[in-house]
Amino acid sequence: MADTQQFFKEQSFINGEWVKADSGKTFAVDNPADGKIVANVADMGAPETTRAVEAAYAAFPAWKKMLAKDRAKILRKWSDLIVANADALAALLTMEQGKPLAEAKGEIINGAGFIEWYADEGRRVYGDTIPPMKDSARIIITKEPIGVVGAITPWNFPSSMITRKLGPALGAGCTAVLKPAAETPLSALALAVLAEQAGMPKGVFNIVTGKDAAAIGQVLTTHPHVKKISFTGSTEVGKVLLAQAASTVKKSSMELGGNAPFIVFNSADLDKAVEGAVASKYRNAGQTCICANRIYVQDGIFEEFTRRLTEKVKAMKIGPGNEAGVSIGPLINQKGFDKARRHIDDAVAKGAALVYGGGQNAAGGLFMTPAILTGMTPDMMMTQEETFGPVAGLYRFADEAEVIALANDTRFGLASYFYTNELGQAFRVAEALEYGMVAVNESLLSYEAAPFGGVKESGLGREGSKYGLEDYLSIKYTLVGGI
Ligand code: ADP
Repeated sequence: MADTQQFFKEQSFINGEWVKADSGKTFAVDNPADGKIVANVADMGAPETTRAVEAAYAAFPAWKKMLAKDRAKILRKWSDLIVANADALAALLTMEQGKPLAEAKGEIINGAGFIEWYADEGRRVYGDTIPPMKDSARIIITKEPIGVVGAITPWNFPSSMITRKLGPALGAGCTAVLKPAAETPLSALALAVLAEQAGMPKGVFNIVTGKDAAAIGQVLTTHPHVKKISFTGSTEVGKVLLAQAASTVKKSSMELGGNAPFIVFNSADLDKAVEGAVASKYRNAGQTCICANRIYVQDGIFEEFTRRLTEKVKAMKIGPGNEAGVSIGPLINQKGFDKARRHIDDAVAKGAALVYGGGQNAAGGLFMTPAILTGMTPDMMMTQEETFGPVAGLYRFADEAEVIALANDTRFGLASYFYTNELGQAFRVAEALEYGMVAVNESLLSYEAAPFGGVKESGLGREGSKYGLEDYLSIKYTLVGGI
């Protein structure tokens, strides 16, 4: 068992200090695998958030001025420390979030990759010179860190959702105040322990923990010293935050909900497609914003695909994430479990067939046996909304034009997937899908050097790649005359 104790913190991290809530209050964090309380964490609100913003504001000038190569050294060290302690961090993550240990470790490593990438990318914030309007003038374009960043993150990736924001923010020269999800604050606080060890100056990275998300969010979205909001979570909350951020015209990045189509054409390599569907649908027990949510299978292979998928799913081991061989852990809470059940019941009531699973698993509590439904239709809840659970709904389709229309018939536009072995079809469909991300014969998209993000109501901005850095920079046009 990895030693998690050194990373176990129950206080918030403000201006380089570990602090209790002003009220002394705490909130309980439980392990979704057994419902046991694993920590009691500082329950902060608006006053503490304001102090954290002030600390980040005070730290900004020096962090901005620091040579990019020196900032890079700190960030790289932070990333290295995360990788070196990946086992302990994964154990902590599984304890509060529930996902299988191997997935948790994968998240820690993937998350560290974002910090490492932006350590280097922060050294390449290049500007331009532009041909001037007159001989005696020069036009110079520089890019500057935008200022204090307010970051709000969800519970489904308690570590990497943070590093995806903090990497580019800090790499660009911004400072930040983070509010992690109340379900999973421990992974966030563990990152701060390592940031401290890496030599991060006081106030550059602050964490405010608390149950009252609205109170903390209100400060982060309206305080004049916060210049940018970066949020990952539901589309509903994202819209609230955008509206609040409008009051002081903050730059905003929003990674919101998805409703990913996963299309399998007749020509596809079926084994690969089934493997991809399992990885995309059931990772993190179906609780990711890029999980396949609507699986469209062409007529000619529908029965065979369903048979092979069911076979694979039946072989999956469900149980606590820290048990060997487990590939599906518990759902995060009762609300999440009930939503997945509601989607199944609604589909069955409207004519779908439950081919496998969908009930409470023998492991009990929040464990659900992964479900497969066939006979899915557009009027069902699962077609309209993200299920966020281990439920695969299979839709039958006849031709390419039909499935493109169905796939695009949603207000969301985050990830999409399709499997085909026809080259022409690969290009046609990739171009026709109205999504920020399209995976062709692949199922795992996240990578620090690629731009992750959505169109339509799935969000604004990108995380990862050179485009992700732009979200934390502002452009300055300097006109110099009298030359
Ligand atoms: P989920 O349903 O996956 O929990 P949410 O959008 O509700 O998604 O939560 C994502 C993050 O947003 C969490 O950190 C949560 O605490 C936070 N949050 C929820 N409501 C608000 C709000 N009104 N203002 C600021 N943050 C919020």
